[in-house]
Amino acid sequence: MAHIIDGKKIAGDLRAQLAVACETLNQTRGIVPGLAVVLIGNNPASEVYVRMKKKACADVGIASFSHELPADTSQETLLSLIAVLNVDPKIHGILVQLPLPHHIDAATIIQAISPEKDVDGFHPVNAGLLATGSPGLRPCTPLGIMALIENAGMDPSGKHAVIIGRSNIVGKPVALMLLQAHATVTICHSRTHHLDQVVAAGDIVVAAIGQPRFVQGDWIKKGAIVIDVGTNRLDDGSLCGDCDFASAKQRAGAISPAPGGVGPMTIAMLLANTVQAAKQS
Ligand code: NDP
Repeated sequence: MAHIIDGKKIAGDLRAQLAVACETLNQTRGIVPGLAVVLIGNNPASEVYVRMKKKACADVGIASFSHELPADTSQETLLSLIAVLNVDPKIHGILVQLPLPHHIDAATIIQAISPEKDVDGFHPVNAGLLATGSPGLRPCTPLGIMALIENAGMDPSGKHAVIIGRSNIVGKPVALMLLQAHATVTICHSRTHHLDQVVAAGDIVVAAIGQPRFVQGDWIKKGAIVIDVGTNRLDDGSLCGDCDFASAKQRAGAISPAPGGVGPMTIAMLLANTVQAAKQS
């Protein structure tokens, strides 16, 4: 039976360390890390995420500055706000909650954020720094996945990592991070043939698909580390991951549950990036 990787506990430990780092920054340099949180419209899921992020900031000593704007806010208005935040010395990180309304181009908005304040790690400059293995702000969910793998006691060096999903926010960046950690990396997507056989070769499996309980336990190599990124809402309102947890935990050596695995780590890494940006300011 697999070891269950407790994302809540690992995230809690990281948050405690960040609280100390915030205190030290304040005492030694008089800096209070500041995160601007921009929310456009009333997407209920986004409202929940923003509330959780603001509470997490308060818990560790990061000042959060809310900018909640109506759904019909123009792209120009949002760009003007970002221009102001980019030069505000109290703000070290800028988070624009995605998805944005259809009339706003997310790529244009992301590119307008100063790369030094891009705590989501989505700006092309930070994506390029990741691709070339240079220091920069990294996307939060992949950072959280790497921390979970490390916590499970697995050094990725020489291991075969199979990533299912190639999005810019999860699949691609985590593949680059695992490559940098010297894993042999396979990236799968919706056109991959014989996915079950590819997954069966993985010492590390990262499922970031968005399909409830898609990855079956009998696909998993015995003893593999499985990180389930999926956050899927079922008809009864409950959440489940992209892996069939009940069967996967019979074969995996360690597995992160969903919820309770990657989700708390994503928020903790947002805080870590904000503290990093503040230190470098
Ligand atoms: P996207 O929808 O952007 O990407 C999904 C990826 O999965 C695509 O690359 C797609 O392939 C691939 N895919 C879809 N169906 C299949 C299939 N049948 N077989 C193989 N590959 C498939 O999703 P995200 O990366 O944004 O998110 C993935 C999941 O992770 C979602 O459940 C999301 O909610 C969750 N998530 C959780 C976070 C957290 O903090 N816990 C943070 C971010 C995401 P193709 O490219 O060919 O279409």
